[in-house]
Amino acid sequence: MFDSHNIDDNFTIPSAIRSSTGGALQPSDTGGGTVFRDAEEIDLDAYDHIILLMSGGKDSIASAIRLEQAGVDMRKVEFWHHDIDGREGSSLKMDWMFMADYNRKLAAEFNVPLYFSWLKGGFEGEMLKQDAISQPDMVETPGGLITLERNLKLSKKNTRLKFPQQSASLAQRWCSSKLKIDVGRRAVNSQSRFHGKKVLVISGERRQESANRSKYNQYESHATNATKGKLNRLVNVWRPVLNWSEEDVWAALESRRITAPVPYRLGWTRSSCMKCIYNSPRVWATIRRHFPGEAEQIADYEEKFGVTISRKRLNVIDISDGVAPFNIDDAEALRQAVNQQYTLPVTTSDWKLPLGAFGSEGCGSV
Ligand code: SF4
Repeated sequence: MFDSHNIDDNFTIPSAIRSSTGGALQPSDTGGGTVFRDAEEIDLDAYDHIILLMSGGKDSIASAIRLEQAGVDMRKVEFWHHDIDGREGSSLKMDWMFMADYNRKLAAEFNVPLYFSWLKGGFEGEMLKQDAISQPDMVETPGGLITLERNLKLSKKNTRLKFPQQSASLAQRWCSSKLKIDVGRRAVNSQSRFHGKKVLVISGERRQESANRSKYNQYESHATNATKGKLNRLVNVWRPVLNWSEEDVWAALESRRITAPVPYRLGWTRSSCMKCIYNSPRVWATIRRHFPGEAEQIADYEEKFGVTISRKRLNVIDISDGVAPFNIDDAEALRQAVNQQYTLPVTTSDWKLPLGAFGSEGCGSV
């Protein structure tokens, strides 16, 4: 949980200092490595492009709502969604099968374009890498799909043959870095439409989610910032709901009448990969009860690799044996969970808090 005493605010300029200069923070305020631990108000109008990293979960949806409520010109906004499983026919399906289509429907609701990107081969392809470099990244752009090949001289061959490990280190928890962060970074770097522009990347982390996230800065320069080079591309990242509570997030969804996304309706406390490496035994028990064969496929890989996801060295079947699954009575959400097409309404006039709200069951990266 959030503990303000543990926050290392070296190199941080609290937003209170800004009030002496007046007005909302400007894009150039992050120059020279300045970071803002708190930055509730920034000048959104000063940006040319606003890229919202839309996972399809409640926090990124709340971020979109905050943009709308701030009166942002939504013509500048685009959603980016990283496809965890790629599009090359992986049968592992770590992510919810409706997630891509749900994001399409969400983008339509907010009336913004949506661009997908993914590591070719997805989670399974990267996991099975053996003395090889990663496959290219695939990026949808306004001009069409582009393939970002690897630099053969700079890319090191390696072997994974195990699931990502539950670790703050992105080298070990490689799914976050290879399937999301790197893809997003390369997607910005590879598009000339951002040259000479001011770009804002929005992500929906919240401090309450974990000790790790409690230390995040709310406003800072993004890894792709290139103001010093000839590209003259300014890229900042802003986390608009970083200081929000879970109550705030659900209230935002309710006020915009956005139906709680399906994973929460099924009892998940986070909407991340369905088969996230951080799933608790109870989540695995629920997958076994309602999605036959899915956990078994993970356990088969754990056995092949001789390495389990759990540090207790129990595979996902053994760790969930005898554990009570969630008590799901939402037949509509269960049907949706096994349908690639998202067919439920995105908004509702009969808003309900879902089963997974305010739960503590582990699932989703920290
Ligand atoms: S949600 Fe879980 S499994 Fe999926 S990329 Fe994040 S940490 Fe990895």
